[in-house]
Amino acid sequence: MPISLPERLLLGPGPSNVHPDVRAAMASPLVGHMDPAFHRVLEEVQERLRHLFGTENRMTLPLSTTGSGGMEACFANTVEPGDRVLVGVNGVFGERMSEVARRYGAEVTRVESDPGTALDVDEMATAIRRLEPSVVAVVHAETSTGVCQPVEAIARTAREAGALFVLDCVTSLAGLPLRLDAWGVDAAYSGTQKCLSCPPGLSPASFGERVLERVKGRSRPVPVWYLDLSLLDGYFGSGDRVYHHTAPVSAIVGLAEALRRVEAEGMEAREARHRAASARLLAGLAPLGFEPLVDEAHRLPMLNAVCLPDTVRGREAALRGRLLERHGIEVGAGLGKLAGSIWRIGLMGENARPEVVDRLLDALAQELAG
Ligand code: PLP
Repeated sequence: MPISLPERLLLGPGPSNVHPDVRAAMASPLVGHMDPAFHRVLEEVQERLRHLFGTENRMTLPLSTTGSGGMEACFANTVEPGDRVLVGVNGVFGERMSEVARRYGAEVTRVESDPGTALDVDEMATAIRRLEPSVVAVVHAETSTGVCQPVEAIARTAREAGALFVLDCVTSLAGLPLRLDAWGVDAAYSGTQKCLSCPPGLSPASFGERVLERVKGRSRPVPVWYLDLSLLDGYFGSGDRVYHHTAPVSAIVGLAEALRRVEAEGMEAREARHRAASARLLAGLAPLGFEPLVDEAHRLPMLNAVCLPDTVRGREAALRGRLLERHGIEVGAGLGKLAGSIWRIGLMGENARPEVVDRLLDALAQELAG
């Protein structure tokens, strides 16, 4: 019996649905990771990722891991025991960054904000100047709360203080424009399963020269062999493609197709499409009693955090279950402190479309009436 899974409309915090062209690309005949035919695809992927991240960084690559592995790579390479690291925490993924940095021996200081609000940029700046950390890290698109964090001023202060600036772009890449070089971001990572609309499994990431210098100057080797940038450099950093580990060929071929689709659409149009879908969703949800958690200025278009009406709160898990079983639609529960009080509705990549929004609104209206 072949393995069979149901068709779902994936409107949670990721993964999102994959375009048929990406699925077809992934089903291409397998070639080896040292085959020049694959290297041409990898070259294309790296160049398109540079474009999408807004960077000239040579070390821009699809890491063979999920978004959490990209996070891990940033701290494993930049942190040595005893280093001071400042993390902006306004949700679950900022929390995770603090924990990852701590495990590499960092002395972590956190600047926090209430769930659903952005970090105070002045508070971050004051903490950077006082602490003089070696690394400053924040999440651009906090998937647990739906907040878009303004990063440019924080990045500038971090640079002025001599710190490396790390940015989590897991949910923002390919949904919002990124300008790593213009903003002064030294290291950034993402995931393929959100606005790129690929299956999970790769972490597109980018590391600037200041990071590579930091790695060179370490007093001890990077503690994780698999994510050591000085070793990954041989395969991903130059045309020589010296073996490090077996690259996930089919996943990278799928990413190549997804990136072509993103470029063909253009980031401006893509951002506008995400914003229009989000506005349609929120307008349709308001009469059903669902209100946005985040103020308009900091609201993410691809991840809509909505407060549940009182009539739904006590039965939200059952309602999500019915959306899944009867309508084939997945929406996300609240995470961390917001569990039980919000839903997270993802309109990511291929799913940021009016007909998708309308399908969810119809299904929800039916369930609430029934
Ligand atoms: N960072 C953010 C902002 C995320 O949304 C996620 C996943 O949802 C991660 C990191 C972790 O990525 P992954 O689940 O692909 O390991």
